[in-house]
Amino acid sequence: MAASALLDRIKNEGIEYVDLQFGDMFGMLQHTTFVASELDEDQLENGIPFDGSSIRAWKSIEKSDMIFKPDLSSAFVDPFREQKTLVIFGDIYEPRTGERYERAPRNIAHKALEYLKSLGIGDEIFFGPEPEFFIFDGVRYYIEPRGSYFEVDSQEGPWTTGEDGVNLGHKIRHKMGYFPATPQDTQMDLRSEIVTNMRNMGMTVYLHHHEVATSQGEIGIKFGNIITAGDLVHKYKYAVKNTAYKHGKTATFMPKPMFGDNGSGMHAHASIWKDGKNTFAGDGYANLSQTALYAIGGLLKHGRAIQAFTNPTGNSYRRLVPGYEAPVKLAYSATNRSAAIRIPYVTSDKARRFEFRCGDASGSPYLNFAAMTMAMIDGIKNKIDPGAALDKNIYDLPPEEAQSIPSTCATQEEAIREMLADKDWLTAGDVFDEEFIQAYAEFRLKSEVEPMKLQPTPLEYDL
Ligand code: GLN
Ligand code: MG
Ligand code: MG
Ligand code: MG
Repeated sequence: MAASALLDRIKNEGIEYVDLQFGDMFGMLQHTTFVASELDEDQLENGIPFDGSSIRAWKSIEKSDMIFKPDLSSAFVDPFREQKTLVIFGDIYEPRTGERYERAPRNIAHKALEYLKSLGIGDEIFFGPEPEFFIFDGVRYYIEPRGSYFEVDSQEGPWTTGEDGVNLGHKIRHKMGYFPATPQDTQMDLRSEIVTNMRNMGMTVYLHHHEVATSQGEIGIKFGNIITAGDLVHKYKYAVKNTAYKHGKTATFMPKPMFGDNGSGMHAHASIWKDGKNTFAGDGYANLSQTALYAIGGLLKHGRAIQAFTNPTGNSYRRLVPGYEAPVKLAYSATNRSAAIRIPYVTSDKARRFEFRCGDASGSPYLNFAAMTMAMIDGIKNKIDPGAALDKNIYDLPPEEAQSIPSTCATQEEAIREMLADKDWLTAGDVFDEEFIQAYAEFRLKSEVEPMKLQPTPLEYDL
């Protein structure tokens, strides 16, 4: 879209504010709001300066200037604002060199796509993300130097006190949330409202449903390419959190908010296209092509290192345990939901794809999809054989057989250290910048891994 067309839209639709948004290295949306009538064509085309010094793990104070270049095709009206506000996502540039900033996740996704093209493997890569989430009536927590306290409430859950006239008659039974109708499904209207908001934000949505765990939900959206799919995950989370917030509730995409119940994943369906054809369709296992099988080989080979980006938080590893439909073994299968990669049954070659089930929505979706792209490229480039498919329930394997299949990482620290030891596939083609990787790892280790090790939890008092 041309800048002049966007300025016309601002005028014709009476838009008061333009909110520039971008996702940071840790998956948080950041924003600044501009007065719409003050923006001009030059700014929309060439970028708008802002101070990048206080964004986590970005610039130091001495050199803090950055340029935000809006991606005009991403513009949508924010359904949550009282005054008409147009949101635009964008890319971050260095003011002096005019180059893309190497620590901006959306830029890394751009570079991964360019690298894929330069190798002639494909000209497009698609991702269909399936983020899951919980909506609680409230979450109370505080962390202080000498202790911590955390508590959640939900109308649906066994932890509800029944005070304030809350009706406790129709509850979802433990792990039986998928998917009794109302009145058990107390969040149906809320999810419908989220979907209406998503559609008003320009997203294509197919369905919504309660998930297995108490108070857990999922919304089925249309796929995007590596860039727009990243945008979609940010929009998805924005819509869920803001709708819940308007109702006085709290939504979370934490991978494992409730001990003893299913966690929230973000399965990602993937396919690589070239010259208008799906390169993943063929006549191999489950009608996949050799290219797709090599891509699976790459994902499985780097399946532990990749978790630094697909399962980026400490909480991610409370989800990757047996018994909750989350993958614990790095294997692939057409049938098996306990494997890291599943090939869904589809009838057309256009829809041929596989699903990487490890990931969750707790970090940057651009980094998640860029890392997946790089692992797939490595598999295809080096013809990495994924081995035989594993069509059995992996949770029930005899111990000797289970031991022969590599497991997902057990902790955030393990994943980061694996990635630091196995990262040539990420830095190939300069897609993931070496300095970016070091800054990312250092931030996660110092600001997350270390405090989690040092901070006592309520469970420790109990024990
Ligand atoms: N919640 C499960 C997970 O952690 C997935 C459940 C499903 O969608 N089948 O990945
Ligand atoms: Mg799903
Ligand atoms: Mg699901
Ligand atoms: Mg799925």
